[in-house]
Amino acid sequence: MRLSRYFLPVLKENPTEAQIVSHRLMLRAGMIKQASAGIYSWLPLGFKVMRKIEDIVHQEQIRAGHIPMLMPTLQSADLWRESGRFDGYGEEMLRMKDRQGRDMLFSPTAEEMFTDVFRAHVNSYKDLPLTLYQVQWKFRDEIRPRFGVMRGREFYMKDGYNFDLSKEDALHAYNRHLVSYLRTYERMGLQAIPMRADSGPIGGDYTHEFLVLADTGESEVFYDSKVTDIQLGEREIDYDSVHQCQSILEEFTALYARTGETHEANQFGSIPKERQRSARGIEVGQIFYFGTLYSEKLGALVTDDQGNKVPVHMGSHGIGVSRLVGAIIEASHDDKGIIWPEGVTPFHCGIVNLKQGDDDTDAACEALYSGLTALGLEPLYDDRKERAGGKFATMDLIGLPWRITVGPRGLKNGVVEVTSRRSGESEELPIEQALTRIAGIYQHN
Ligand code: ATP
Ligand code: MG
Repeated sequence: MRLSRYFLPVLKENPTEAQIVSHRLMLRAGMIKQASAGIYSWLPLGFKVMRKIEDIVHQEQIRAGHIPMLMPTLQSADLWRESGRFDGYGEEMLRMKDRQGRDMLFSPTAEEMFTDVFRAHVNSYKDLPLTLYQVQWKFRDEIRPRFGVMRGREFYMKDGYNFDLSKEDALHAYNRHLVSYLRTYERMGLQAIPMRADSGPIGGDYTHEFLVLADTGESEVFYDSKVTDIQLGEREIDYDSVHQCQSILEEFTALYARTGETHEANQFGSIPKERQRSARGIEVGQIFYFGTLYSEKLGALVTDDQGNKVPVHMGSHGIGVSRLVGAIIEASHDDKGIIWPEGVTPFHCGIVNLKQGDDDTDAACEALYSGLTALGLEPLYDDRKERAGGKFATMDLIGLPWRITVGPRGLKNGVVEVTSRRSGESEELPIEQALTRIAGIYQHN
């Protein structure tokens, strides 16, 4: 993409309405525009990042054996009356009537809808296990929408639902989700710590939240300093292996990280004093096992191998896709702007032309642009007639992890400059080597 032809409405001034850094930077970098309280338009740069996050979510869900589909956002109240949640959900549910006077709602979550599809089409234990999911807009009429996309009223969420014959099978689905979520967040350059949580209105004994540590987080977390050392890394995972999923869950949860607002002293359990940490965290996902709660209410039954009709065991799992855009910025920025992890960056590399209109400099930039494109990468070429300082400031603000700077002085020596946004370090390389360098970085991303 050539910046002269892109739509990147960056703001020079700091927007006064933003209280936290991710909200401020998303507005300044031209990623979002508020449409009304807690509802945002996603401008091209913001949309691109959210799509990258969504792609990773899909890839990792599918790798774990889960099946994507799509439910409507507007749903009939009748189904929600069956579960008791049309009246029970409270003020956060946006209710409306259609022209026939029928009660409708904008889905805040979708346990009912998925259970309804299941009961209509699945009758036998032979069709289990089954995990269906979607990435779809949700609406919750939050009492205090704030912090930009972090606590919106309309937000984009991956929500999944597992259907299993027994509690044992459903707990494997729970563990499998925990593992696949760990991989999902790691690919986004994030460390999200799984923590035992209170199950709230969904109910059930088993639930973990995934928290990204950041000062602006809304949850209080208590953890063992060692939890930040564990990573899945490159290890091979067999999602069908009950043993492997269980042992990874144990490895990641053995250190008793907990969230909650209850009395601090109770939260640390047996963590040695010198390793006790309390901090703030952003919830970027949550998984639940809730047994037969919804399947009994909605009659989602299957025939078991003895011929008995039994309610299926279920769980649900959510990832805050739009919230993650903000959470990643909270975890990765400096005073000049955003620093995107390679896995989610909207463009792989920026190209800064220091002397637009100079034949040699323009030609070198074009060679880099087509070279990167031919490698399957997406560069953002700042080809505007602007002074160098302004171009650097824009690149720093929008946070592309790599920048190639091209000017007449370097070209006289046959080199361009490759700079890491994160470390600020630069290398001078001939064009061909600069291309190989960038390609090498993205080989695994
Ligand atoms: P919270 O405690 O932050 O209100 P929740 O526990 O009600 O969230 P879940 O039902 O667990 O949310 O939804 C799954 C994920 O969706 C959350 O982990 C979070 O990342 C995201 N999410 C929930 N509410 C919002 C919101 N209002 N704006 C943006 N993302 C949200
Ligand atoms: Mg939650």
